[in-house]
Amino acid sequence: IPVDPFDLVIFGGTGDLARRKILPGLYRRFFDGQMPDEARIIGAARSEMDEAGYRDFVRDAIKEFSGKRNDPNMVSAFLEKLSYVAVDATGTDGWKDLAKTMRADVVKAYYFSVGPSLFGAIAERLHKYKIADDAARIVVEKPFGHDRESARALNATLAEHFDETQIYRIDHYLGKETVQNLMAVRFGNMLFEPLWNAQYVDHIQITVAETVGVGGRGEYYDRSGAMRDMVQNHLMQLLCLTAMEPPSKYDPDAVRDEKLKVIRALEPVEHSEIVRGQYKSKSESYLKDVENPESLTESYVAMKIRIANWRWNGTPFYLRTGKKMKARVSEIVVRFKEPPHSIFEEDTGQSANELTIRLQPNEGMDLTVTIKEPGPGGMRLIDVPLDMTFAEALGEEAADVPDAYERLIMDVIRGNQTLFMRGDEVEAAWAWTDPIIDGWTEREDRPFPYEPGSTGPEEALILMHRDGRRWRELR
Ligand code: NAD
Repeated sequence: IPVDPFDLVIFGGTGDLARRKILPGLYRRFFDGQMPDEARIIGAARSEMDEAGYRDFVRDAIKEFSGKRNDPNMVSAFLEKLSYVAVDATGTDGWKDLAKTMRADVVKAYYFSVGPSLFGAIAERLHKYKIADDAARIVVEKPFGHDRESARALNATLAEHFDETQIYRIDHYLGKETVQNLMAVRFGNMLFEPLWNAQYVDHIQITVAETVGVGGRGEYYDRSGAMRDMVQNHLMQLLCLTAMEPPSKYDPDAVRDEKLKVIRALEPVEHSEIVRGQYKSKSESYLKDVENPESLTESYVAMKIRIANWRWNGTPFYLRTGKKMKARVSEIVVRFKEPPHSIFEEDTGQSANELTIRLQPNEGMDLTVTIKEPGPGGMRLIDVPLDMTFAEALGEEAADVPDAYERLIMDVIRGNQTLFMRGDEVEAAWAWTDPIIDGWTEREDRPFPYEPGSTGPEEALILMHRDGRRWRELR
């Protein structure tokens, strides 16, 4: 279904994120017929560039990043929608030109795909030059602050010029098909929700493992670390959607209110229940990659989290995320308790049910159930997966689901904030992470080394073993 006509301005329209994600994503929405004829996309960045130059840049980006939809005629038609204005985010250049470019009577959206230090300056100029009206939407990228104080300051700055209903804080994890499916599975079925609590769930694991290192982002990453870069936002969002109470309806504030309650119910994490790591081998190391031999920043973190409420009292959540790990895996594993009593005489291999919600690779879900091993061998039990890889269950079409960014940008145009973080949510998440990070800084806590390509530091395995549990294998 096409969205309403819009003018979308991409500040930072020549940057890495615009090139890899935003522009190819918009092209795919165009290709699939979701973009109305009157839609326009305006690149705005520092570089002096003319329209033809910008279209060439976008054509190359599409070629590189839009997969099989790269069709020359469609690309040319898409490029017709594009224009470019050079602006100086902190100065006066270009703003009047941008104001002239904008049309009345269409949805106006401004994507801030620039460093957070420019958010305030851009927001201010959008108003000063009367570029944004009361219905305009702004999209802001991560990182949203560095701690609670800076997040609060950023919220306050944006609030000077925009109402909360106009601000779309992106966390692209929320745009993933499976993450939304988590809500569909939890709240669209009778099967799971009655069991979704401490009485029946032994524990929950949330893993976001990357095989890449810090790449070219060394300097930024070293000031941030896994806790700020991944846990405070992405893993926290996954935790919230897994743990929250059913919202009364699927609407932005109802959902975000429930997520906020989860964050507020998190107990402070004991020092002994967090493991930090840094990858290190003879040939490569985190310290070399960030060019800081003294760095105490973590490229890996694992922790045990408790949620102090009725639903989850006694059921821990284990989170882990890291770079240079054995496999690229993002998943949520809900491990149910074992049946209270076995009616089968010998130990026949029965184990607990496990529901896995996989964000990557192969987005989908699977549920292990125990059945009788087929054959005449007596009552032997085996665990088999009820696999729901979307590609297999729903065919080609489902395998080709929109990327998180494209889905979220279309939500901005539709004016739907459900999958975007609210200001108070972000501040609450920082309020929970700040003391943990401050503790590390005060103690000059040193991360444990781990082999690149491994599952992380040994100490993280022990964190689970102590509780008689294991991390799910990374594969
Ligand atoms: P980048 O450095 O590649 O691009 C920055 C863009 O901002 C360029 O288009 C540049 O012209 C523009 N810019 C810089 N200073 C300007 C100024 N004074 N006036 C006008 N334009 C100016 O950055 P990026 O990697 O595209 O990241 C953009 C934002 O997205 C950052 O906040 C980053 O943290 C966030 N982000 C990036 C990625 C990614 O994969 N690249 C992922 C998640 C979040």
